[in-house]
Amino acid sequence: MILGTRFGEYGGCFVPETLIPALEELEEAYRTIVPDPSFQKELSGYLTEFAGRETPLTLCRNISQDLGCRVYLKREDLLHSGAHKLNNALGQALLAKYMGKKRLIAETGAGQHGVATAIAGAVTGLPVDVYMGDVDIERQAPNVARMKLFGARVIPASSGTRTLKDAVNEALRDWTGNVRDTHYLIGSVVGPHPFPSLVRDFQRVIGTETRVQVLEREGRLPDAIVACVGGGSNAIGMFHPFLDDDVALYGVEAGGEGEGGRTGATLCKGSPGTLHGAYSYLLQDNYGQVAESHSVSAGLDYPGVGPEHSMLRDSSRVTYSSVTDREALDACLYLSRREGILPALESSHAVAYARNLAMSLDRDQVMVISLSGRGDKDLATVMEYAGVQV
Ligand SMILES: *Cc1c(COP(=O)(O)O)cnc(C)c1O
Repeated sequence: MILGTRFGEYGGCFVPETLIPALEELEEAYRTIVPDPSFQKELSGYLTEFAGRETPLTLCRNISQDLGCRVYLKREDLLHSGAHKLNNALGQALLAKYMGKKRLIAETGAGQHGVATAIAGAVTGLPVDVYMGDVDIERQAPNVARMKLFGARVIPASSGTRTLKDAVNEALRDWTGNVRDTHYLIGSVVGPHPFPSLVRDFQRVIGTETRVQVLEREGRLPDAIVACVGGGSNAIGMFHPFLDDDVALYGVEAGGEGEGGRTGATLCKGSPGTLHGAYSYLLQDNYGQVAESHSVSAGLDYPGVGPEHSMLRDSSRVTYSSVTDREALDACLYLSRREGILPALESSHAVAYARNLAMSLDRDQVMVISLSGRGDKDLATVMEYAGVQV
């Protein structure tokens, strides 16, 4: 068993000794159960019949006209639950069942991963406990209601700042005490090995489908692919099947308030350090204390990032940049108006970057944007920005 598998110098397994057996067991399952044809067949059944895969690849005729290149959207907004997070939640819930686990736990900040886990628990028949900071429970009432409707228990984390970081601590404490029958379902390509690899492999379906769909439509691979990066799961899922190809890859972080202001741009503004069990880029102060992040989109508001992205940043295989809250909000309004598609504010960061990138592309060049989720959850924020009464 090889624990501490790395992406270059990043990744690893920086956890208390009491968690090592759980991670070893999970790695074993990752190596033996996940590739097994019967597991893959059952997962594929869930993804197809239940979640609605494959998701469409949509050619946007209006914005292609505007921007002067061929713009496609990969429509994870049309996946059941309205975002890509369900690909991973279903994969890990099913894996937990195959491992003989009887219970799922998760932690959530904005509530989107909590909802995906609650859905996956309901459909696979596993009870779900979701840890969530007191403050977040108050801020994210609709998602708390959804989790409860799907049968999950929402457990308030009331220590520290009573937000995501405290919920992570509570979840880790729970897992340490209940490793035998409990699986900790992590929501992005972060955390200790094997989570970054496991979650990536469950999200790779985004890129695998895109590859086939673009080849069918264009007879060749795209020139550029753009995806937003929070923890980095929709981006790595989209990028991974194209890493060895001549395709330019762009990861877009949350620039928050812009130059000098609060930010969520971990790869652009951070430096390497250890957070949540892995060595990766993170936002930290001069003393190595994790800094608070900010983004108008809750899903990108995280001070860390997946270790594989850190490696891809250093090797320059992927170009990472950031766009501000304001640019993302403008892009959200733009896509809604021009194409009749309301993107999540997370995904709107990718759309905003794509608008600028298009200037360097010719009319017959092809760009794919990962539309990671739909924006209904962001309606109030968007309407307030647009100055419209809701
Ligand atoms: C959670 C979320 C993200 C950010 O997570 P990644 O792991 O970086 O993909 C992006 N888009 C949407 C719609 C989300 O819900």
